[in-house]
Amino acid sequence: MLNTASSAAENQGFAPALMRAVSRGTSDSTQLVSPEQRGYDLQQRTLARAVEFSGISVHSGLAARIFVAPAAADSGIVFITARHVRISAYVAHICFDPAGLCTVIGAGGDTVSTVEHLMAAFAACGIDNAEVTLEGAELPILDGSAQPFIDKMLDAGLVAQQQQRRFLRITRPFSYQGLDGQWVRFDPIRADEEGTLAVKIDFTAMIPAIGVQSLNMPIQLGALRSEIMHCRTFGLEAKRQEYQAYGRGLGASCANAVLYDGDRVLNKDGLRCDDESVRHKALDLIGDLFLAGWPLLGHISAFKPGHRTNAEALAALLESDCYTL
Ligand SMILES: [Zn+2]
Repeated sequence: MLNTASSAAENQGFAPALMRAVSRGTSDSTQLVSPEQRGYDLQQRTLARAVEFSGISVHSGLAARIFVAPAAADSGIVFITARHVRISAYVAHICFDPAGLCTVIGAGGDTVSTVEHLMAAFAACGIDNAEVTLEGAELPILDGSAQPFIDKMLDAGLVAQQQQRRFLRITRPFSYQGLDGQWVRFDPIRADEEGTLAVKIDFTAMIPAIGVQSLNMPIQLGALRSEIMHCRTFGLEAKRQEYQAYGRGLGASCANAVLYDGDRVLNKDGLRCDDESVRHKALDLIGDLFLAGWPLLGHISAFKPGHRTNAEALAALLESDCYTL
């Protein structure tokens, strides 16, 4: 049986479907773990020490600085704003973003923008628990990929914690139909099988140089880091100017995005790989889906994924009976 859900344009919120049980562990070990394992192990992980990231924010254009610190088992990923509001990185906290250019979470009157690349970095490193303290309301964009986040966090080291990691296991097929032909689909895996990620994009109309690209890869920590996390966000130079008219993309440049002018790549060093665009869309999808609170076990496929559709698909999945936790 195929379960489906459809986008409702007026649905601007994401109903809390499954609130993560927050119970703080107190018996974390200090066992350093290798980031190079093939799959997920059973123990939760956090960082061995705090790290700092700073740089420009892609949408506000303001300077940003964040500190990513170790956190207790079972606490999850928590963002802490300048006013000390704690916002769990959870799908129920996603805020509607009219432009759909980034993923925004909010609680207690505060918001945190552009969380997706750091969330992807956590997912690809198998980091379950961390506290992210911000000085502003948006994360730094760094080079437009997740690679700088990953490099510094792996350099700091990861530690295994004593509590077991939980997994959101897909048990029945579930698909979500978004706007403009977009869809995201989740399928179960057998007990002896690894999950796969399949993403297809079609930019033929908007950016012919990107055209149609597709990607199919295993969902393994090492593969996520080697195959997609270095791929940068991208856009049209003309759109960048349009977004700036209403205060978005104010910090965007060739230093933190691949910019296209018609079919021409404006970045003087070109692309990092021929299909960098679909790989970045896969990175975004992994980051957005980590707002489930735990890794997904299943086959994930998507056509023209975008932040809004990703969030709506995840919220709809969590309201379905197509998974176990
Ligand atoms: Zn992105």
